[in-house]
Amino acid sequence: MLKIFSAGTLAVIGGGVGMRFMGDAEAVVFEDIATTPSAFARSVLHMSTPAPDSAALLQAFQNHQTPPQAGVSVSSESYQQKMHHFEQAYADDVFLAPDKYALVVSVFMRMGRVQELVGHGNFNILSFDELLSYARQYLVVGAFPAAEVDFLEELFTGDARRYGFMGEKVILALTERVPEKDAVKQARTGHFLFKGDAQRLYAKLVQDLNYGVVLTSGIRSVVKQTHLFLAKTIQAKGNLSRASRSLAPPGHSYHGIGDFDVGKVGFGAKNFTEAFADTDEFKRLVDLGYADIRYPQDNLLGVRYEPWHIKVV
Ligand SMILES: [Zn+2]
Repeated sequence: MLKIFSAGTLAVIGGGVGMRFMGDAEAVVFEDIATTPSAFARSVLHMSTPAPDSAALLQAFQNHQTPPQAGVSVSSESYQQKMHHFEQAYADDVFLAPDKYALVVSVFMRMGRVQELVGHGNFNILSFDELLSYARQYLVVGAFPAAEVDFLEELFTGDARRYGFMGEKVILALTERVPEKDAVKQARTGHFLFKGDAQRLYAKLVQDLNYGVVLTSGIRSVVKQTHLFLAKTIQAKGNLSRASRSLAPPGHSYHGIGDFDVGKVGFGAKNFTEAFADTDEFKRLVDLGYADIRYPQDNLLGVRYEPWHIKVV
């Protein structure tokens, strides 16, 4: 069964949820990624490896029993201000129930152990059933207890508008699979794209940009999106509104059905900030008509401006 989920020679030091890169040794190869480790890390670390990567942060969150009030500003903050300062907390933000905090950390870490088992690339297209199955089969992961499965189901089926995310749901079942025959791994990126429109668009875009841009996030299964969303939720200290201002909740990401992100090679985590919009690469994307943006400036979907996100579907 591990044939399509070969962990390859993924360089991971230590356990836990964080993936750490081993210096600049050219010999290190990530899965089938044929770029230098440092260039790759700079380009995709931000999305491939969801923070929080510190045990201290996880522990603090796990032990927290009341929603943190720090950084809460006034409730009369306008919608546009919230979208612009999306990482701040606002008085009317909706928090996860504090009695769920320990559960969230546990489920996040268990998913992280499956990610290390199957490889970061393959985790992008892992289905929910596969997630549960790997956890059951590997002692190093441990089966998901019923409470954790229930939590994941509730997160998926719950109404995201409750915490301010107004985008539509594009994947309707938690168990929906990315068909293996439709997902094509993209060399030197560790990510997958759907055959057809997405792959054609990416190939042409990269060529037109003279290989100055790279795929930073492609297909994301419900599992991958959930893991990212939990990471964001933990980072946001349980603030679901804040988390969903910069990451679509499970089932709501167009990465599940075709969209992808690109970044400037070597630009690192800045590719996922508005700084990307100031690069020559982004200007070229606009000039060439590629930047048909899913979440434009001043969108009304409750999501920050995302110039790096390429709309396919
Ligand atoms: Zn995106």
